[in-house]
Amino acid sequence: MGLDDVKGRVALAVTRRSLPGRMNADSVAGLGEGLHIGIVGAGSPMPDRDRGNPCVAVIAGGKVWLVDAGEGAGETLSRMEIEPGRVQGVLMTHFHSDHIGGLGNVALFHWVAGRTPATRPMPVIGPEGVERVVDGFNAAYAQDFVYRSAHHGETIAPPSGAGMEARPYKPPEGDQELVVLEEDGLKVTAFRVDHTPVDPAVGYRFDYQGRSAVISGDTSYVPIMEQVSDGADLLVHEALSRELLQLVEDAAGAAGRETRQQIMADIVDYHASPQEAAEIAQRAGVRGLVLTHIVPPLPVKALEGPFLEGCHERYGGPIWLARDGDLFSLPAGETKIVKSRMIPRRPGA
Ligand SMILES: [Zn+2]
Ligand SMILES: [Zn+2]
Repeated sequence: MGLDDVKGRVALAVTRRSLPGRMNADSVAGLGEGLHIGIVGAGSPMPDRDRGNPCVAVIAGGKVWLVDAGEGAGETLSRMEIEPGRVQGVLMTHFHSDHIGGLGNVALFHWVAGRTPATRPMPVIGPEGVERVVDGFNAAYAQDFVYRSAHHGETIAPPSGAGMEARPYKPPEGDQELVVLEEDGLKVTAFRVDHTPVDPAVGYRFDYQGRSAVISGDTSYVPIMEQVSDGADLLVHEALSRELLQLVEDAAGAAGRETRQQIMADIVDYHASPQEAAEIAQRAGVRGLVLTHIVPPLPVKALEGPFLEGCHERYGGPIWLARDGDLFSLPAGETKIVKSRMIPRRPGA
């Protein structure tokens, strides 16, 4: 027997032993009281090995609300061992492709992958326009719903639980804030951001058991971010490095890729820089800053230094550059932020 055969047999034995435990994997069960923010997708449409399309999991009292669901969100939630039955629904910030691309799979997992199948469609809360997105996904998946109920039976795949249900709200104007969800002690407040020409575009503040987190959504610098983040524990803000993106733009130009060069030039004006996010964090007095929606991709970790250039001079608190699977815990009755990982290391990897 060759070495590869031995390795194969060992791998099979390890898999056989570990699979039952992984079937019952439920990382949320072990989280303590308080508010927990899991980064599911920390990137943008530009491919980054450590950062998928945007999605954040907000975990409170054992229940999970997602903010956006970019492509790959369902798969990364599985890798984070977040039991699909815990997902209550999705809160949308806006309807750019990178924020909606994973809705279909997230809804599928919500429907049939939990401990008990869903009997109601997955709620998708968002500013007006969310109904068009939801209608489109439901239409695209209509045949899939029929196939799965026919194949697995209506007990395992109840037709009433397939797909999504849109819950649109009228987005708040100016510096107004709007409570869009209040459930089991979790309060979710929406506020309007500036992602022009994308309109509406919102961010959300989450309050639970005395702890709080703000998720910016996609936006250029907006003063309301300081208002809603005032005294919050954690600010999760999008960030685009103009200096690093300039390298990509220049490279596209040098390679004769004019369209790509122009796209890189265009995206600068509707995103915030890491330095702007740091200034907001300082002025709002938050306890920690997480940068996400990282643009451009950072293929090597050493680029994180240049990405954060000047941020620590502007903000005295801790700054984290998010990667998929990061977890930021805000324990109830405390003021600390505990960072950990939700994606376990693969045995043998
Ligand atoms: Zn966007
Ligand atoms: Zn985006």
